[in-house]
Amino acid sequence: MEVHYPIMEHFYTIQGEGYHTGAPAYFIRTAGCDVQCWWCDVKDSWDGEKHPLISVKYLCEQVKDSGADKVVITGGEPLLHDLQPLTTELKKLAVDVHIETSGSSPLSGTLDWVTLSPKRFKKPLPEVYEHVDELKVVVLTNKDIEWAESEAQKCPKTARLYLQPEWDTAESIPLIVDYVKKNPQWAISLQTHKFLDVP
Ligand code: SF4
Repeated sequence: MEVHYPIMEHFYTIQGEGYHTGAPAYFIRTAGCDVQCWWCDVKDSWDGEKHPLISVKYLCEQVKDSGADKVVITGGEPLLHDLQPLTTELKKLAVDVHIETSGSSPLSGTLDWVTLSPKRFKKPLPEVYEHVDELKVVVLTNKDIEWAESEAQKCPKTARLYLQPEWDTAESIPLIVDYVKKNPQWAISLQTHKFLDVP
């Protein structure tokens, strides 16, 4: 039986954030999110039922036609869905499969890169941490930096650590710059796709 997922959008673009910044990647944004951050910039993704069900076959055809060598599965919260059927087929295309998640639902799928963006009010499941390749925390205040540090303790030592300011306010930038200079295990992640004016 053909497997379908509710998909808000899918497009070939440039990864704007974190370790793979600047690399072309095919983004698949699943619909549905039970985390519901007040500062979310993709609120349209929250209601899974508002978006069409798209087959794995169709998504894989689009990825193949694009020529991408990386696929980023994001959301919404992609782990609300069992990602095994989708990632199994994607791996047949010999692409790297990345995920961006809050980690608040069980990990699924064959994943080459896990970016955890934890949320204080809906915490990651304990079993997710050992799979984290990249930790990315959005920072508004000092409290977020304290939270980022406590989350980093739970991740593998090899995990890349990023603090990210919110796009629409520069308020936290001095705080982040100062912190990263004193704590060089952290780096700054910026939403560079917004400078490039790509989705
Ligand atoms: S987890 Fe992501 S998609 Fe869900 S509300 Fe937060 S920022 Fe938005």
